[in-house]
Amino acid sequence: TINAEIIAVGTELLLGQIANTNAQWISQKLAKYGINVFYHGVVGDNYQRVEDTFSLAQKRSNVVIVTGGLGPTEDDMTREAFQALSKLEIEEHRPSMEKIKDYFIRQNREMTPNNRKQARVFKGAQVLENKVGMAPGMIVTFQETTWIFLPGVPKEMKQLFEDDVLPYLLNEIEETSIIQSTILRFIGIGEAQLEHELQDVIKEQQNPTIAPLAQNDGVIIRLTAKERSTALVEQLLDETKNKVLDRVGKYYTGSDNETIEYVLVNKLKELNKTISAAESLTGGKFTERVISQPGSSKVCPGGIVSYDATVKQDVLGIPNRIIQNYGTVSKECAREMALNVANLLNSDIGISFTGVAGPDSIEGKPVGTVYIAIHQKNGEGLVEHFQFHGDREDIRRRSILKGFELLIK
Ligand code: ATP
Ligand code: MG
Repeated sequence: TINAEIIAVGTELLLGQIANTNAQWISQKLAKYGINVFYHGVVGDNYQRVEDTFSLAQKRSNVVIVTGGLGPTEDDMTREAFQALSKLEIEEHRPSMEKIKDYFIRQNREMTPNNRKQARVFKGAQVLENKVGMAPGMIVTFQETTWIFLPGVPKEMKQLFEDDVLPYLLNEIEETSIIQSTILRFIGIGEAQLEHELQDVIKEQQNPTIAPLAQNDGVIIRLTAKERSTALVEQLLDETKNKVLDRVGKYYTGSDNETIEYVLVNKLKELNKTISAAESLTGGKFTERVISQPGSSKVCPGGIVSYDATVKQDVLGIPNRIIQNYGTVSKECAREMALNVANLLNSDIGISFTGVAGPDSIEGKPVGTVYIAIHQKNGEGLVEHFQFHGDREDIRRRSILKGFELLIK
C-alpha cells in the first residue's frame, strides 16, 4: 500500500505569504480514496535544503508528491535538487518544447533561454501534459519510490493531479479502496432486539460491516463498505440494506439524513395535510422539531404549549368537567387536547402530549405515565397510554419520539 508524502517547494510558503493549499487539496483527494499520507513538508527555494528534504522523503515514503519549483526562473530548482539525489539524466521533452515555442510565437514575444528549462524532464519519466500552463508534470520511479513532480500554480497542479496522477496511483499502485457508509434509521425497536434479529447477518457479513447503535432518536444501523469503485460500493450497500430491511423493515423510518421530522414533514407535504400539536410535558419540543424543517410552513401553522391545567382550560378550551372527572393526565384529556388544537389552528391533524415527566407524580399517576392522542379531520383518531422509564428528560424525549412514530407509521 501507499504511504505518501507531500512536499511543497517555495520560500513564499515559509514566509507565510501564501498558504499551502496544494498540500491540503491533494491530501483531501488522497484521503477520499483511502490513500495514506504520513508527511507534509514545506521547504524554501534553497538548493541544499530541497535536496535534504528530498533525501529524507526518499527514505521514508514510497510515493512523494512535490509541488512547485518547476518554472523557468533561477529560484525554481526542484529538478536540480532531485537530480543531485537520484543522478538521473535530464533531457529536453520535445512536445513540451514545441508547446513553449508555440506559446511565445502566438503571444508575439521573444522566448528567453531560461524558458527551455521548463521542458526539461528526467530520462525515463512519464511526462504529464500541462493543459493549463507550461511546465509539464512528471512521474519517475527511483529506487522503489515513486516521485511525482507538479507545478506550484494550483490550477495547473489540480489539472495534472486529476487527469494523470490520481488514475496512476489508483491503477498502478494501490488496490483502490473507496469507503462509504450509509445509516439506516429505526424506531420502535431497541438496540438489543435489533441486534438479535440480525445476529446471523451481522456475523457472516464482513463487507459492508453492520453496526447497530442506540441514539437519541431510536436506533441506527451503520453500514460501511469498502470497494474498488463507487459503483461497487453503492451496490454492496444496497444489497445489504435490502437484507437488513427484509428482517426489520417494519421499524425502518429512513436513511442517512432522513430524520423523523424530515420524514414526517415530507409525508404531510405529499398528503397535502397540516398538523398542530397541543403539548404539555413536551413543552413545544415536538413542534420545534417539525418547524426546524425547511418548508414546514406548508404543513404546520403552529402549536400550543398548554402546560398548566388553567392553560388547558382557558387557551385550549378543555371542558372543566373532563379535568374534574379524569384529570389532565388521562385519555379523555389527551383526546380533547388533540381535537381542540386541530380546530383552533384549523389543521387536518391534531396531536397531543400529556403525562407525568417527574420527578413527582401528578394526580396519583406514576412518573412516566404519558397519553398521546391523534385527531384526524375526516379520519380515524387514536389515543394511547404509555409507561416510559428514565428521568424527566428521557420521558419527554421518548414521548416526542413516540409521537413521531405514531404519525410516520
Ligand atoms: P511557475 O512556472 O509559475 O514558476 P512553479 O512550478 O515554479 O511554477 P512556483 O514558482 O513554486 O511553481 O509557484 C507558482 C505559484 O503557485 C506561486 O507564486 C503561488 O502563487 C502558487 N503556489 C506555489 N506553491 C503553492 C502551494 N503549495 N499552495 C498554494 N499555492 C502555491
Ligand atoms: Mg516558479
